[in-house]
Amino acid sequence: MRIDVISIFPDYLAALDLSLIGKARAAGLLDLAVHDLRDFTTDRHRTVDDTPYGGGAGMVMKPEPWAQALTAVLDVGPDADADDAPLSEDAVPGSGVAADRPVLVIPSPAGEVFRQATAHELAEADHLVFACGRYEGIDERVAEWAADRFAVRPLSIGDYVLNGGEVATLAMIEAIVRLIPGVIGNPGSLTEESHADGLLEYPMYTKPASWRGRDVPDVLLSGDHGRIARWRREEQLARTAARRPDLLPPVC
Ligand code: SAM
Repeated sequence: MRIDVISIFPDYLAALDLSLIGKARAAGLLDLAVHDLRDFTTDRHRTVDDTPYGGGAGMVMKPEPWAQALTAVLDVGPDADADDAPLSEDAVPGSGVAADRPVLVIPSPAGEVFRQATAHELAEADHLVFACGRYEGIDERVAEWAADRFAVRPLSIGDYVLNGGEVATLAMIEAIVRLIPGVIGNPGSLTEESHADGLLEYPMYTKPASWRGRDVPDVLLSGDHGRIARWRREEQLARTAARRPDLLPPVC
């Protein structure tokens, strides 16, 4: 998989060198590049924002640097800075999702909510591009323009507002990349965790069996795998009902 991240704060993405993602890159499972949006500006001040049409607070990210940066990550040569920018051979004009088009993720609190199912879907892509907004976000025309070149996905990581798309991008990349075969050593870890089967995970314990007056539930020390599986399922249901009742299937 190839991932390109475009941001005005590329240093924010330094964490992508660490831990399992860093190892995946070193092992050649992931080709990841971070780009500074300001490298695609043309004025002396490297301007990326301007005031909003219609008035109101804050600034909006200008479309021109985004078009240049997004064209560059498509490897189709220089942007003509016009509507006739060349398309890659794989690019299919249109706004629907096509397997052979790169996916452009635009983090946004106004996007569709990113879930485990979204992570699985995006883990199948060959090429993901993350466009990290700042200020009040990116001029809306960028997403419209990009729909001829990418499958465009405005995605939110939750119902709250961050200062920029970098933290959201880090969260989404981590959730996606750990699903690529070979990234997690034990694939069983991916099937026995929260959201894998729609429920939250059961409580986990490790040694010592007794700690500060608190004992691990007896059943987990029993060696009876059937009983342990039943206990874990009951705990999953109880925990999900208590913390996330919205995840339980509706009772008819
Ligand atoms: N004016 C925008 C709105 O009300 O929808 C919020 C802009 S926010 C201050 C700046 C940037 O942070 C956004 O363009 C987006 O990239 C990112 N961002 C903020 N909250 C986010 C969330 N919940 N999920 C994903 N990205 C988010």
